[in-house]
Amino acid sequence: MKVLLINPNRYKSPPVPPIGLEYIASSLSGKGHTVEITDLCFAEDWRQYIDRSVEDMKPDIAGVTVRNVDTVLYHTNEFFLDEIKEIVHYLQVKHGLRVLIGGAGVSANPAGVLEYLNADSAVQGPAEDTIHRALAETLNGGHIRKIYHGKYSGRALCPRRTFGIDYGRYCGSGAVIGFETHKGCSSSCVFCLEANSRVAFKPVQNVVEEIRSFVDIGHTHFHLCDSEFNESLDYSVEFCTALKKSGLDIRWAVYMKPAEFNKTLLRLLKDTGVYLITLSMDSWKKCDLYWTDYEKFIFGAKSLGIKTAVDFLTGFPYETDIEIRGYFDTLRRPLPDSVGVNTYIRLYKKLQITEIILKDAALRARLSGRTDDATFIQPVFFNRFDTQKLGELIAGDPLFRIEGPEKGVNYGRIK
Ligand code: SF4
Repeated sequence: MKVLLINPNRYKSPPVPPIGLEYIASSLSGKGHTVEITDLCFAEDWRQYIDRSVEDMKPDIAGVTVRNVDTVLYHTNEFFLDEIKEIVHYLQVKHGLRVLIGGAGVSANPAGVLEYLNADSAVQGPAEDTIHRALAETLNGGHIRKIYHGKYSGRALCPRRTFGIDYGRYCGSGAVIGFETHKGCSSSCVFCLEANSRVAFKPVQNVVEEIRSFVDIGHTHFHLCDSEFNESLDYSVEFCTALKKSGLDIRWAVYMKPAEFNKTLLRLLKDTGVYLITLSMDSWKKCDLYWTDYEKFIFGAKSLGIKTAVDFLTGFPYETDIEIRGYFDTLRRPLPDSVGVNTYIRLYKKLQITEIILKDAALRARLSGRTDDATFIQPVFFNRFDTQKLGELIAGDPLFRIEGPEKGVNYGRIK
């Protein structure tokens, strides 16, 4: 089968190379399919790019990745699905191709996104193993509007290839090379689409070899694409030990949670070139141990000379000013390099937090955005403390940055 994979993600603050498509393309080519990736990120006229790719390759079917439905930020929100819908339509009508969609954005509401984009079928979750059946059935079955549930075993892993992605251009525009060590997350954060998803780890040696393949062509700066690196302390230590043994001279930035860590892991992170750790934190029903672990983590990382940032989501239903001030005092104590605070919670249909908010009229009154959209595909936000109030609570402390008004990521801000 000849498969044309399309990256429609044209967001550039910063641009993000389509590593998910590279993993999928590697899995497909490992099974003998002919695969190409058409990357529309820097295309001035995406129709021309698609026309040229289709004329050259003459694919049997197209796959389009939906990395995000929107930017998730309230102040500078950009909604991506309308342009992706145009791309899907163009592939179907101008080129007569059936279109399978996948990517993290589909998880926001698989049936809703499939319908919104009017694609032929969709894969929800990791597609490396499921893509083969999904493509074959979509090609033979037509506009079947079927949703395939992806499960990742790690067994179908093929070495990642870049399929012509212009990494020079990406890196020149502020991007950093990404890689991942696992899929899924076992935590239960009520506001997160990844919560309680099936966890599967990649063999450490494969990940190290993937990094080596980029080092061999001159790239030494990386960013880990896992939602949180330390899903398992044992795996994290095993991976870092193998990376240290490889002798690869790299710098990398990583997202982690304030759990599943110890001094050995922090030391290994330092030894393997980690220069920045961003801790993902929130204030929803946390016990004392959570905050104690936070302090231990920041002190431990700082003592090794690793920069630390915190991404903090707060302003949940029923939280008070006094509580928020208390969280800020705790976050301030070990003095991380920066604390980004977000009080606008993007709601999705299947999230537990959405259910909690919809049950209470007083909470519903705090919704903003496309509240008329029951699918929650169009952005809807819950906000307890608006930007002005948040500014008062922060009281000018330069440690804290209000997330949203300014675009960017921590690995771009903290060197
Ligand atoms: S730990 Fe991070 S990835 Fe996992 S559910 Fe919570 S916010 Fe999501």
